[in-house]
This record gives sequence, C-alpha cells and structure tokens, in this order.
Amino acid sequence: MDYDLIVIGAGSGGVRCARMAAGLGAKVAIVEDRYLGGTCVNVGCVPKKLYAYGSHFSEDFKLSADFGWQVEPPTFNWQTLRDNKTREISRLNGIYERLLTSQGVSLLWGRGSLLSPTSVQVGADTYSAKHILVATGGWPVLPDIPGAELCLTSNDIFDLATLPTRMVIVGGGYIAVEFACIFQNLGVQVSLSYRRDLFLRGFDREIREQLKTALEYKGVELLFNHQLTSVERNESGELEYSDNNGNKTQTDAILFATGRAANTMGLGLENAGVHCDEVTGAILVDEHYRTNQDTVFALGDIIGRVQLTPVALAEGTYLANYLFAEQKPRPVNYANIPTAVFTQPEIATVGLTEDQALEAGHEVKIFTSQFRPMKYTLGDQGTKTLIKLIVDQQTDVVIGAHMIGPEAGEISQGVAIAVNLGAT
Ligand code: FAD
Ligand code: NDP
Repeated sequence: MDYDLIVIGAGSGGVRCARMAAGLGAKVAIVEDRYLGGTCVNVGCVPKKLYAYGSHFSEDFKLSADFGWQVEPPTFNWQTLRDNKTREISRLNGIYERLLTSQGVSLLWGRGSLLSPTSVQVGADTYSAKHILVATGGWPVLPDIPGAELCLTSNDIFDLATLPTRMVIVGGGYIAVEFACIFQNLGVQVSLSYRRDLFLRGFDREIREQLKTALEYKGVELLFNHQLTSVERNESGELEYSDNNGNKTQTDAILFATGRAANTMGLGLENAGVHCDEVTGAILVDEHYRTNQDTVFALGDIIGRVQLTPVALAEGTYLANYLFAEQKPRPVNYANIPTAVFTQPEIATVGLTEDQALEAGHEVKIFTSQFRPMKYTLGDQGTKTLIKLIVDQQTDVVIGAHMIGPEAGEISQGVAIAVNLGAT
C-alpha cells in the first residue's frame, strides 16, 4: 500500500483527520481539487462572518449619531470589502497547507475518485491505501424550475463583480436569513422568499417571530408562503420571475439558498461498492464513520447528519484516533450541539425548543426575558434582546437555551457548556 490513509477532500473534516492521523504516525495523503480549507474557509463560515462584520457598520454609523458623533454620510465600496476578504482567505489557504505539510501529509492536487475500496485515482495517477476517507462535503441545490441557471448560489455571492440594487433571496434556512441581513445592511433592497409561513423551521417560535420583526424594521421585504415558479431575463436585462400568486416581478439578482446535498458526483462510489441513502444521497456510515466497505470511511457534510464545521472537526478527530491511536476515543456526542445564526441581531441556541421539549414528553417551565440592550437605549435600533430558557419541571434541568440579540453567538458559548454539564 502507498499510504495508511488517503483522504479525499481538504475541508474542515478531511484536514482535521489527515493531520491528526499523520501526527499519530500514519502515512497520509490528502486529495483536493479546488481550495484548501473547504467550504467553511472559502465559501462558508469565514467569508460570511467577515461580510457580516462589514455589513454591521451601516447600523453602527446610524447609532453613533445618538452618541453625539457627526460623520459625513458614509459610503460603501463593495470591491474593497470583497478584495480584502479574498486576501485573508488566501492567507488562510496558506496556513492550511502548512498545517498539513508540517505534519508530513502529502498533498495531491486534483479530483479524486475511488477505483476500488483500497485505491484512488487522481488525474492519471493511482494510489493505494489501507483506509480511504471520503470528506467531500456538500454542494448547493437549485430548485427544478425554468431559468434556475440564471440565479446565484452561496458559491457565487462572495465574489460578485458589483453589488446589485435589488436582490431576491429564496429559502428560509441559515444561509437565506444570514445573507438577507448582510445584503440589506450593505444597501441592497432585499426580498426574502420562503415557501412556508415563517423562516428558520426547527428554531424556537418566539425567536423566529423576533427575527421577523427585526428584518421588517431593517426594511427587508418578507414574502412568506411564496414560491418562484420560473425566471427569465427580460429585454431590459433585468431578471423577471413568476411566482405562485401569478405575479411577475423584476429584480437584479436571485440567490437560491435552498439547501445543500452530498457532493458525491464523479466520486466513483459505485466502483468501491459504497452505499448511499436513496433519498438524500448521503453516504451511509456506522458509529465509527465506516461505510458498508470495511476500508472506506466518510464524515462531515457528506454523511448528511449535522452540517456544521465544529461537527466535521469532531468527527475527523474521532476517526483519526479510532484508526491510529492506542486509546480508543469517546464517540462524538450529537446531543445539545450549540449553533449560531449570524443574522443581525444574532441568534444562538442549544438544546430543545419549547415545542421539541413538549413533543419529547417533558413538562416544562419557560423563563423568558426581553429587554432593549443598553447600547440601544440612546437611539432606537428597533431590536430587542430575547432570552428564553426551557426547564424540565421535574428535575429543574435546563434542557434548552435560546437567545436573539447582539453578540448572542459569543454569549451562548458559555451557556452551551453549562447546558451540556446539566445545569439546573
Ligand atoms: P467541506 O468543507 O465542504 O470540504 C469538502 C472539500 O472536498 C472541498 O474542499 C472540496 O473542494 C473537496 N472535494 C469535493 N469533491 C472532491 C473530489 N472528488 N476530489 C478532491 N476534492 C474534492 N458551519 C458552521 O459551523 N458555522 C457557520 O457559520 C457556517 N456558515 C456557513 C456559511 C455558508 C454560506 C455555507 C455554505 C456553509 C456554512 N457552514 C457553517 C457549514 C460548513 O461550512 C460545513 O458544515 C463544513 O465546511 C463541512 O465540512 P466538510 O469537511 O464536510 O466539507
Ligand atoms: P437549510 O437546509 O438550512 O435551509 C434550506 C431552506 O430552503 C429551507 O428553508 C427550505 O425550506 C428551503 N427549500 C428547500 N428546498 C426548496 C425549494 N425547492 N424551493 C423553495 N425553498 C426550498 O440550508 P442552507 O442552504 O440555508 O444551509 C445549508 C446548511 O449549511 C445549513 O443547514 C447549516 O447546517 C449550514 N450552515 C450553517 C451556518 C451557521 O452555522 N451559522 C450558516 C450557513 C449554513 P423548508 O423549511 O420548507 O424545508
């Protein structure tokens, strides 16, 4: 065998597993065809947070007047933000390369595909390995409507040549609401189209309602129970979409944030006899991330469990230790995974929502606190902080904690630890 482990995909999960395995003495290669660091570093968490920081200034400039500052009406230059972001991502790509090579991981550039359960093709070369890890992540899904190819996905929006004047964002998940805030705050007139009655399905109802109020205050047009049925480019060069109400509307850009599917295209899974879920396409694995083939493993977004970077990192750490450490690791705990939605205001949550707690048979006590953050008491930002604790009536244990408000993501890091330790 050429290697102990070949990893296909140098994203969050793949890089973590490769460098930890090498650190444990394994001979490791990693195959990547696009960018080091994967989705999170290049077209996900990192540029998204940089844009969220950048877009927040428009609210801060308004607020500063209430604190006595007089500034010229600020102007915004998209190209500066975009190009500074690109420079920072290049720096991170370099760091990822050094993280891998300094541990002795061989970097194989090119598209990897399985030839068998123990061999991988990269370009014209073939490599053999005792273990193969598939960590190729996810890819945005476009709805099957005429003209969808004229629209953008999250892969495209970070590098737009110019900012559109108007934008329609379709979807009601993390990406849709985060980018609705980013682009609206950067001065784009955003319309958010969601097919049901309120976005962020699965989050606590009161938090979702509060976000709705905040988005309306910002001026985002909310189109609920709304679906695009076709898109075309009209004679004036605008995009024109038809919707389920029979209307035709013009806009400048349409972003589909309608979910991500397992990135298995061209991976050669059939050559290795690896089984996928028939409905979702995700690779099926057991508790050790082993597929139905003994030598082939998969983790991260491609297994379709929880699509978050810290989860992919935890899975990568587990697998490296499972395969190469003397002491076998504890399994990844999928309960109480904290999550933040980088809307403005932010949302952060850990544990059960009120509805989930009731469905699970808990008798619950609910504690809520709503207030205007002190920073906003001199001027109106139209947004209140809401904190909600879901407590089990019998044991007094906090089984869910939810917050919407400035810095909710940072604040809830500590709250999440307390909840995971079983705080009452
Ligand atoms: P990825 O990071 O997607 O890595 C897969 C890698 O495999 C890629 O580099 C790809 O180029 C490579 N690849 C694919 N096929 C092949 C092949 N055949 N050969 C060679 N290489 C291949 N998560 C958070 O926790 N917090 C956030 O704030 C957050 N924000 C996000 C914002 C956006 C816009 C998006 C899209 C996602 C966000 N996520 C966030 C989710 C997070 O990015 C993913 O959960 C995470 O990147 C998954 O890691 P992974 O290792 O499974 O796959
Ligand atoms: P999500 O799965 O979160 O949301 C997809 C949204 O699109 C849902 O509201 C869904 O509606 C809607 N939708 C799906 N199909 C269609 C369709 N055909 N027509 C109209 N609407 C449709 O996916 P995202 O793309 O927002 O994000 C992917 C994942 O990336 C997230 O789930 C998350 O795990 C991760 N991520 C994490 C972030 C963070 O941690 N802050 C930020 C960004 C992404 P419905 O509710 O009806 O299903």
